[in-house]
Amino acid sequence: MTERAGPASPFTDCHVLMIVAHQDDEVLGAGAQFNSFDQLSILHVTDGAGSMREARAKGFASLAAYAAARTREVRSAVAEAGVPAVFHALGVRCLEACFHLPSIIRQLERAIAGVGPDIILTHAYEGGHQDHDAVAFAVHQAISHLPLKPPVWEFAGYHRSGSSTVRGVFLPNGEPPLWLPLTEADRALKRQMLDRFHSQLDVVAQFPLDGELFRPAPVYDFAQPPHQRPLGYELEGWGIPAPLWLTAAREATKTERSWRLVVRLRWEMWARRFHPDSPRIVNLMRATPLLGRRVW
Ligand SMILES: [Zn+2]
Repeated sequence: MTERAGPASPFTDCHVLMIVAHQDDEVLGAGAQFNSFDQLSILHVTDGAGSMREARAKGFASLAAYAAARTREVRSAVAEAGVPAVFHALGVRCLEACFHLPSIIRQLERAIAGVGPDIILTHAYEGGHQDHDAVAFAVHQAISHLPLKPPVWEFAGYHRSGSSTVRGVFLPNGEPPLWLPLTEADRALKRQMLDRFHSQLDVVAQFPLDGELFRPAPVYDFAQPPHQRPLGYELEGWGIPAPLWLTAAREATKTERSWRLVVRLRWEMWARRFHPDSPRIVNLMRATPLLGRRVW
Protein backbone atom coordinates (compact mmCIF):
# COMPACT_ATOMS: atom_id res chain seq x y z
CA MET A 1 0.00 0.00 0.00
CA THR A 2 1.26 3.48 -0.85
CA GLU A 3 1.97 5.83 2.07
CA ARG A 4 0.28 9.17 1.54
CA ALA A 5 0.39 12.50 3.22
CA GLY A 6 -2.95 14.27 3.56
CA PRO A 7 -6.39 13.15 4.71
CA ALA A 8 -7.09 9.50 5.54
CA SER A 9 -8.99 7.50 2.99
CA PRO A 10 -12.39 6.20 4.16
CA PHE A 11 -11.77 3.07 2.06
CA THR A 12 -8.57 1.83 3.72
CA ASP A 13 -8.81 -1.87 4.59
CA CYS A 14 -12.44 -2.02 3.42
CA HIS A 15 -14.13 -4.38 1.01
CA VAL A 16 -15.20 -1.88 -1.63
CA LEU A 17 -17.82 -2.69 -4.25
CA MET A 18 -17.52 -0.31 -7.18
CA ILE A 19 -20.73 -0.15 -9.22
CA VAL A 20 -20.00 1.66 -12.47
CA ALA A 21 -21.43 2.06 -15.93
CA HIS A 22 -18.37 1.52 -18.14
CA GLN A 23 -15.01 -0.25 -18.26
CA ASP A 24 -12.73 2.68 -17.33
CA ASP A 25 -15.00 4.56 -14.87
CA GLU A 26 -13.56 2.59 -11.91
CA VAL A 27 -9.93 3.51 -12.65
CA LEU A 28 -10.72 7.12 -13.59
CA GLY A 29 -12.71 7.56 -10.38
CA ALA A 30 -10.66 5.71 -7.80
CA GLY A 31 -7.78 3.80 -9.43
CA ALA A 32 -5.14 5.31 -7.14
CA GLN A 33 -6.99 4.00 -4.06
CA PHE A 34 -7.23 0.34 -5.12
CA ASN A 35 -4.10 -0.78 -3.33
CA SER A 36 -5.41 0.55 0.00
CA PHE A 37 -8.56 -1.63 -0.16
CA ASP A 38 -8.83 -4.92 1.66
CA GLN A 39 -10.93 -6.37 -1.17
CA LEU A 40 -12.12 -4.95 -4.46
CA SER A 41 -15.27 -6.04 -6.28
CA ILE A 42 -16.26 -4.27 -9.49
CA LEU A 43 -19.68 -4.46 -11.10
CA HIS A 44 -20.06 -3.11 -14.64
CA VAL A 45 -23.63 -2.34 -15.58
CA THR A 46 -23.10 -1.88 -19.34
CA ASP A 47 -20.97 -3.73 -21.88
CA GLY A 48 -19.20 -0.50 -22.90
CA ALA A 49 -20.06 -0.94 -26.59
CA GLY A 50 -22.23 2.01 -27.52
CA SER A 51 -22.87 1.76 -31.22
CA MET A 52 -21.67 -0.01 -34.34
CA ARG A 53 -20.47 3.33 -35.69
CA GLU A 54 -18.21 3.80 -32.64
CA ALA A 55 -17.07 0.15 -32.74
CA ARG A 56 -16.08 0.44 -36.43
CA ALA A 57 -14.32 3.76 -35.84
CA LYS A 58 -12.19 2.01 -33.22
CA GLY A 59 -11.37 -0.89 -35.53
CA PHE A 60 -13.81 -3.55 -34.31
CA ALA A 61 -15.88 -5.66 -36.69
CA SER A 62 -18.78 -6.13 -34.28
CA LEU A 63 -20.28 -4.80 -31.06
CA ALA A 64 -19.45 -8.11 -29.39
CA ALA A 65 -15.77 -7.73 -30.33
CA TYR A 66 -15.74 -4.16 -28.98
CA ALA A 67 -17.43 -5.23 -25.72
CA ALA A 68 -14.97 -8.13 -25.30
CA ALA A 69 -12.04 -5.73 -25.80
CA ARG A 70 -13.37 -3.39 -23.15
CA THR A 71 -13.62 -6.27 -20.67
CA ARG A 72 -10.03 -7.33 -21.45
CA GLU A 73 -8.83 -3.74 -21.06
CA VAL A 74 -10.35 -3.22 -17.62
CA ARG A 75 -9.04 -6.54 -16.31
CA SER A 76 -5.58 -5.69 -17.53
CA ALA A 77 -5.77 -2.14 -16.08
CA VAL A 78 -6.88 -3.31 -12.64
CA ALA A 79 -4.19 -6.02 -12.65
CA GLU A 80 -1.60 -3.20 -12.94
CA ALA A 81 -2.53 -2.17 -9.38
CA GLY A 82 -1.53 -5.62 -8.18
CA VAL A 83 -4.86 -6.03 -6.41
CA PRO A 84 -6.97 -9.12 -6.99
CA ALA A 85 -10.44 -7.97 -8.00
CA VAL A 86 -13.67 -9.87 -8.49
CA PHE A 87 -15.62 -8.70 -11.54
CA HIS A 88 -19.38 -8.81 -12.10
CA ALA A 89 -21.17 -7.69 -15.26
CA LEU A 90 -24.81 -7.04 -16.09
CA GLY A 91 -24.12 -6.68 -19.83
CA VAL A 92 -26.64 -3.93 -20.58
CA ARG A 93 -25.99 -2.19 -23.93
CA CYS A 94 -23.96 0.99 -23.42
CA LEU A 95 -26.01 4.24 -23.67
CA GLU A 96 -29.23 2.32 -22.94
CA ALA A 97 -29.06 1.72 -19.18
CA CYS A 98 -32.01 4.03 -18.47
CA PHE A 99 -34.29 1.70 -20.47
CA HIS A 100 -33.44 -1.28 -18.29
CA LEU A 101 -33.68 0.30 -14.85
CA PRO A 102 -36.18 -2.13 -13.22
CA SER A 103 -34.02 -5.12 -14.16
CA ILE A 104 -30.77 -3.33 -13.19
CA ILE A 105 -32.21 -2.41 -9.79
CA ARG A 106 -33.26 -6.02 -9.11
CA GLN A 107 -29.85 -7.35 -10.16
CA LEU A 108 -28.03 -4.77 -8.05
CA GLU A 109 -30.08 -5.74 -5.00
CA ARG A 110 -28.98 -9.36 -5.44
CA ALA A 111 -25.37 -8.42 -6.19
CA ILE A 112 -25.00 -6.09 -3.19
CA ALA A 113 -26.57 -8.65 -0.84
CA GLY A 114 -24.33 -11.39 -2.29
CA VAL A 115 -21.05 -9.43 -2.21
CA GLY A 116 -21.66 -7.90 1.23
CA PRO A 117 -19.30 -4.93 0.83
CA ASP A 118 -18.25 -2.52 3.60
CA ILE A 119 -18.70 0.43 1.22
CA ILE A 120 -20.24 0.95 -2.20
CA LEU A 121 -18.48 3.42 -4.48
CA THR A 122 -20.41 4.66 -7.50
CA HIS A 123 -21.26 7.54 -9.82
CA ALA A 124 -22.69 10.88 -8.75
CA TYR A 125 -25.97 12.07 -10.29
CA GLU A 126 -24.35 14.80 -12.36
CA GLY A 127 -25.77 14.91 -15.89
CA GLY A 128 -22.49 14.05 -17.62
CA HIS A 129 -23.42 10.67 -19.09
CA GLN A 130 -26.86 9.10 -19.21
CA ASP A 131 -25.53 5.69 -18.10
CA HIS A 132 -23.69 7.21 -15.11
CA ASP A 133 -26.92 8.87 -13.96
CA ALA A 134 -28.83 5.62 -14.53
CA VAL A 135 -26.33 3.71 -12.37
CA ALA A 136 -26.48 6.35 -9.61
CA PHE A 137 -30.29 6.13 -9.64
CA ALA A 138 -30.31 2.31 -9.68
CA VAL A 139 -27.83 2.06 -6.77
CA HIS A 140 -29.94 4.41 -4.64
CA GLN A 141 -33.10 2.47 -5.49
CA ALA A 142 -31.49 -0.91 -4.80
CA ILE A 143 -30.12 0.25 -1.43
CA SER A 144 -33.55 1.58 -0.42
CA HIS A 145 -34.97 -1.96 -0.85
CA LEU A 146 -32.24 -3.76 1.14
CA PRO A 147 -32.46 -4.47 4.87
CA LEU A 148 -28.67 -4.08 5.29
CA LYS A 149 -27.58 -0.82 3.71
CA PRO A 150 -23.84 -0.40 3.16
CA PRO A 151 -22.75 3.25 3.06
CA VAL A 152 -22.72 4.66 -0.48
CA TRP A 153 -19.86 6.93 -1.50
CA GLU A 154 -19.35 8.48 -4.88
CA PHE A 155 -16.41 9.59 -6.98
CA ALA A 156 -16.40 12.74 -9.09
CA GLY A 157 -16.97 12.18 -12.80
CA TYR A 158 -17.82 15.03 -15.11
CA HIS A 159 -20.57 17.50 -15.87
CA ARG A 160 -21.37 20.44 -18.05
CA SER A 161 -20.58 23.91 -16.74
CA GLY A 162 -21.46 26.73 -19.09
CA SER A 163 -19.97 25.93 -22.46
CA SER A 164 -17.39 23.43 -21.19
CA THR A 165 -17.18 20.05 -19.47
CA VAL A 166 -15.53 19.95 -16.05
CA ARG A 167 -13.92 16.70 -14.88
CA GLY A 168 -13.02 15.43 -11.43
CA VAL A 169 -15.32 17.77 -9.47
CA PHE A 170 -18.82 17.43 -8.02
CA LEU A 171 -21.83 19.65 -8.51
CA PRO A 172 -22.28 21.81 -5.38
CA ASN A 173 -25.09 19.65 -3.97
CA GLY A 174 -23.68 17.47 -1.20
CA GLU A 175 -21.35 17.33 1.79
CA PRO A 176 -17.89 18.91 1.40
CA PRO A 177 -15.94 16.36 -0.66
CA LEU A 178 -12.78 14.58 0.41
CA TRP A 179 -9.79 15.35 -1.82
CA LEU A 180 -7.12 12.66 -1.86
CA PRO A 181 -4.05 14.05 -3.62
CA LEU A 182 -1.93 11.62 -5.63
CA THR A 183 1.79 11.25 -5.04
CA GLU A 184 4.14 11.00 -8.00
CA ALA A 185 4.12 7.20 -7.57
CA ASP A 186 0.29 7.16 -7.49
CA ARG A 187 0.17 9.22 -10.67
CA ALA A 188 2.63 6.96 -12.44
CA LEU A 189 0.62 3.87 -11.46
CA LYS A 190 -2.68 5.43 -12.50
CA ARG A 191 -1.22 6.48 -15.83
CA GLN A 192 0.01 2.91 -16.33
CA MET A 193 -3.50 1.61 -15.58
CA LEU A 194 -5.15 4.12 -17.92
CA ASP A 195 -2.73 3.18 -20.71
CA ARG A 196 -4.35 -0.26 -20.75
CA PHE A 197 -7.62 1.19 -22.07
CA HIS A 198 -6.42 1.05 -25.68
CA SER A 199 -9.85 1.74 -27.15
CA GLN A 200 -10.45 4.76 -24.85
CA LEU A 201 -7.10 6.55 -24.82
CA ASP A 202 -8.60 9.77 -26.20
CA VAL A 203 -11.25 9.77 -23.44
CA VAL A 204 -9.11 8.88 -20.42
CA ALA A 205 -6.45 11.43 -21.38
CA GLN A 206 -8.90 14.23 -20.57
CA PHE A 207 -9.13 13.45 -16.85
CA PRO A 208 -6.93 15.10 -14.20
CA LEU A 209 -4.31 13.01 -12.43
CA ASP A 210 -3.49 15.27 -9.49
CA GLY A 211 -6.00 13.76 -7.07
CA GLU A 212 -9.27 11.88 -6.60
CA LEU A 213 -12.40 13.36 -5.08
CA PHE A 214 -14.99 11.47 -3.04
CA ARG A 215 -17.99 12.15 -0.85
CA PRO A 216 -20.85 10.29 0.83
CA ALA A 217 -23.70 10.13 -1.69
CA PRO A 218 -26.25 12.88 -1.03
CA VAL A 219 -30.01 12.24 -1.01
CA TYR A 220 -30.95 13.11 -4.59
CA ASP A 221 -34.25 14.16 -6.08
CA PHE A 222 -34.19 11.98 -9.20
CA ALA A 223 -37.44 13.58 -10.37
CA GLN A 224 -35.41 16.70 -11.25
CA PRO A 225 -32.45 17.06 -13.59
CA PRO A 226 -29.14 17.18 -11.67
CA HIS A 227 -28.53 20.74 -12.82
CA GLN A 228 -30.04 23.32 -15.10
CA ARG A 229 -30.39 22.10 -18.69
CA PRO A 230 -28.83 21.42 -21.03
CA LEU A 231 -27.17 18.39 -19.45
CA GLY A 232 -23.89 17.08 -20.82
CA TYR A 233 -25.50 14.09 -22.53
CA GLU A 234 -28.16 16.24 -24.18
CA LEU A 235 -25.35 17.96 -26.06
CA GLU A 236 -23.58 14.75 -27.10
CA GLY A 237 -26.12 13.38 -29.58
CA TRP A 238 -26.61 10.21 -27.51
CA GLY A 239 -30.38 10.29 -27.95
CA ILE A 240 -31.44 11.21 -24.43
CA PRO A 241 -32.87 14.62 -23.54
CA ALA A 242 -33.42 15.15 -19.79
CA PRO A 243 -37.25 14.70 -19.87
CA LEU A 244 -36.79 11.30 -21.54
CA TRP A 245 -34.30 10.17 -18.87
CA LEU A 246 -36.56 11.48 -16.08
CA THR A 247 -39.55 9.66 -17.55
CA ALA A 248 -37.57 6.40 -17.70
CA ALA A 249 -36.49 6.84 -14.05
CA ARG A 250 -40.04 7.66 -12.93
CA GLU A 251 -41.40 4.59 -14.74
CA ALA A 252 -38.78 2.40 -13.05
CA THR A 253 -40.17 3.22 -9.61
CA LYS A 254 -43.68 2.00 -10.54
CA THR A 255 -44.74 -1.58 -10.05
CA GLU A 256 -47.07 -1.36 -13.04
CA ARG A 257 -45.22 -0.10 -16.09
CA SER A 258 -46.67 1.02 -19.35
CA TRP A 259 -45.08 -1.10 -22.07
CA ARG A 260 -46.37 1.32 -24.68
CA LEU A 261 -44.37 4.04 -23.00
CA VAL A 262 -41.25 1.85 -22.83
CA VAL A 263 -41.53 1.15 -26.57
CA ARG A 264 -42.01 4.85 -27.21
CA LEU A 265 -38.96 5.75 -25.10
CA ARG A 266 -36.77 3.30 -27.01
CA TRP A 267 -38.06 4.51 -30.36
CA GLU A 268 -37.36 8.13 -29.37
CA MET A 269 -33.81 7.30 -28.40
CA TRP A 270 -33.19 5.36 -31.61
CA ALA A 271 -34.63 8.18 -33.74
CA ARG A 272 -32.65 10.87 -31.93
CA ARG A 273 -29.38 8.96 -32.21
CA PHE A 274 -29.59 7.82 -35.78
CA HIS A 275 -31.96 10.26 -37.51
CA PRO A 276 -31.57 13.52 -35.58
CA ASP A 277 -32.14 15.65 -38.67
CA SER A 278 -35.01 13.80 -40.31
CA PRO A 279 -37.83 16.38 -40.76
CA ARG A 280 -40.40 13.55 -40.85
CA ILE A 281 -39.33 12.20 -37.46
CA VAL A 282 -38.99 15.67 -35.92
CA ASN A 283 -42.54 16.51 -37.04
CA LEU A 284 -43.86 13.20 -35.76
CA MET A 285 -42.33 13.76 -32.31
CA ARG A 286 -43.63 17.31 -32.17
CA ALA A 287 -47.10 16.06 -33.04
CA THR A 288 -47.04 13.35 -30.33
CA PRO A 289 -45.46 14.82 -27.20
CA LEU A 290 -44.24 12.30 -24.65
CA LEU A 291 -46.73 12.30 -21.74
CA GLY A 292 -47.67 15.85 -22.58
CA ARG A 293 -44.04 17.01 -22.35
CA ARG A 294 -42.18 18.59 -25.18
CA VAL A 295 -38.93 16.69 -25.36
CA TRP A 296 -37.73 17.54 -28.83
ZN1 LIG B 1 -18.47 6.02 -18.03
